[in-house]
Amino acid sequence: MFGSCSSRSSNVDPSITPSKPMILILLGPPGAGKGTQAALLKDTLLIPHLSTGDLLRDHVKRHTSLGIQAKAFMDNGKLVPDPLILDMLFERVSHKDCAKGYILDGFPRTLPQAKAFQARLEQHIQPLVINLELSDNHIIERLTKRVVCEQCGSTYHLLYSPSAQEGICDRCQGKLIQRSDDSVEVITKRLHVYHEQTAPLIAFYSQKNLLHSVDCTRSKEKIFADVVALLPSTI
Ligand SMILES: [Zn+2]
Repeated sequence: MFGSCSSRSSNVDPSITPSKPMILILLGPPGAGKGTQAALLKDTLLIPHLSTGDLLRDHVKRHTSLGIQAKAFMDNGKLVPDPLILDMLFERVSHKDCAKGYILDGFPRTLPQAKAFQARLEQHIQPLVINLELSDNHIIERLTKRVVCEQCGSTYHLLYSPSAQEGICDRCQGKLIQRSDDSVEVITKRLHVYHEQTAPLIAFYSQKNLLHSVDCTRSKEKIFADVVALLPSTI
């Protein structure tokens, strides 16, 4: 699906040209499907999906020098500073499994993080930023009509994938309930934080011509097809 490099017109021997790693950044509001698309990309491209939250927990658990520094901030109830998070990230991406590239979802989250990340990338490397677009109304409709089985955890959507019998799980006959963080109030608050913190990244990457938007009102398969179409044909 991703073609070979044979159609490239360059006469440089590709075997002596180190290929650039593919750095994918997924942006988008909560509920747009970042995690789903990241998982599909990871399985298709065979590059790691990195979460700075996981990296942080791992460093703290292993008592690395970066982990010990981070824990001191956390123990004082402070946010771990961006330079420390970036040290962890760039340490991780120096590993062999990231040589072809990696996928970031949930990072960068703020404009200072995006600027710091960009400043530390090697000059010839640019990320491909995919903005998963979904309006607030769609997100609220998607998340507030989600119900989950309190027994087996199966999820249903009252409009898109309802259970056969209202309020009852198809698999185990358990009761379907709404999670407390799927209420309109909680989701509206999360969207407010998102717009305030993360939306400026859209302008930042757009000015650098690195941003590509995908309409997320459709099925995850259709969204993924659009995402794949944005990837360079040389991978
Ligand atoms: Zn169930």
